[in-house]
Amino acid sequence: MSSNQIISERDLSVLWHPCTQMKDHEWLPMIPIKRGEGVWLEDFDGKRYIDAVSSWWVNLFGHANPRINAALKSQVDCLEHVMLAGFSHEPAIQLAEQLVEITPAGLDRCFYVDNGSSAVEAALKMSYHSWRNQGHKGKHHFVTLSNSYHGETLGALAVGDVSLYKETYEPLLMEVFTAPSPDCYERESGESWEDYSTRQFAEMEQLLATHGDEISAVIVEPLVQCAGGMRMYHPVYLTLLRKACDRYQIHLIADEIAVGFGRTGSMFACEQASITPDFLCLSKGLTAGYLPLSVVMTSEQTYRNFYDDYENLTAFLHSHSYTGNPLGCAVALASLNIFRDDNIIENNRNLAQVMSEATAHLVDHPHVAEVRQHGMILAIEMVKEKKNRVPYDWQERRGLRVYQHALKQGALLRPLGNVTYFMPPYVITPDQIKTLARIATEGIDLATRN
Ligand SMILES: *Cc1c(COP(=O)(O)O)cnc(C)c1O
Repeated sequence: MSSNQIISERDLSVLWHPCTQMKDHEWLPMIPIKRGEGVWLEDFDGKRYIDAVSSWWVNLFGHANPRINAALKSQVDCLEHVMLAGFSHEPAIQLAEQLVEITPAGLDRCFYVDNGSSAVEAALKMSYHSWRNQGHKGKHHFVTLSNSYHGETLGALAVGDVSLYKETYEPLLMEVFTAPSPDCYERESGESWEDYSTRQFAEMEQLLATHGDEISAVIVEPLVQCAGGMRMYHPVYLTLLRKACDRYQIHLIADEIAVGFGRTGSMFACEQASITPDFLCLSKGLTAGYLPLSVVMTSEQTYRNFYDDYENLTAFLHSHSYTGNPLGCAVALASLNIFRDDNIIENNRNLAQVMSEATAHLVDHPHVAEVRQHGMILAIEMVKEKKNRVPYDWQERRGLRVYQHALKQGALLRPLGNVTYFMPPYVITPDQIKTLARIATEGIDLATRN
């Protein structure tokens, strides 16, 4: 038996993996990873893989980044953790100061949480509670977009709309209003992204106009619905949504857990629409893929809505054990230093251009419906029939065939259904991008052959 097999057997006798039908591992080997370095992951047999999906979109500057490692090591010798109620520490303060500085103007308060779903839950509760503290008692509904994803705890799952994750648990979930997504994959041929996203806003407007009094907040993933298949839309939708939310006195929650920290080309996706949400949820790239940490950024006004004498019971009493963990904050600070020192947002433009050029030929592939891109996220959608965009049956698991081919060729290209995508660490080189494009092209050829 190979070293990979020995480790995998031990794993399979005790572990239960996330987002996995464990029976698949009867024929689909798992890949136990021994070490990581830069874009590379190395398994126990010494085989290496380019991490093209940043280990589920978290890694920004490669594995075992020397600068981030150093920050982590120095923090752990100083303070590993202290509770954040009644106590504080310098990494939490410094990170909050910097996040206030770099997030859209008006987000002046930072509430720490410890993972993405929990940040979404905290934002939902804060929104409702903020209205309640102001005397608006009927605002207890949320609006979401079709095909959206906001995490997997019950509240976050309720405001999401990916049926694969949601349907089973439907009886357990709060009811929400769902507006049609501005996802431009669905546009008419010849219609521009901007026109389509604008057109899709009409139903949202109608919903907010009709039910404004009952609605606490609209929650969206700005520009890219990542878990929903890397579906993308035009910033104009966010601009229209911001204005409508103001008009009807409804909060806007921007879930930038996946798209924040440069993924869409700007530091935050909201910047491309020149808007400030009422709540901004950040996680994933926040710690450059090192440790679980998340924040909800909000306005001074929202903070004030909770600020009162204790007896009035208006405080936001939400907490998690690892809220604002110092190790997480220290690596987040190291990551923000890299953004500044290495001019990352600027340099990523070149990498995004290389991704675009390296995959341009796939537009003509007989089974590729679309190659779409927002900055450092590029997605390729396979279809059975190109002309009418007839999808492959999901049971055929075509994306998985691309994944298996890529693993053989030394790349991690975990698909989303029939969508293969690149969302690489920013330390990837143009040559590595070209390698990924070649592997993806071969994989798509194989996966669509019959
Ligand atoms: C990943 C993700 C979440 C959930 O974050 P977890 O840390 O996995 O709980 C929420 N929203 C979006 C947009 C995400 O991509």
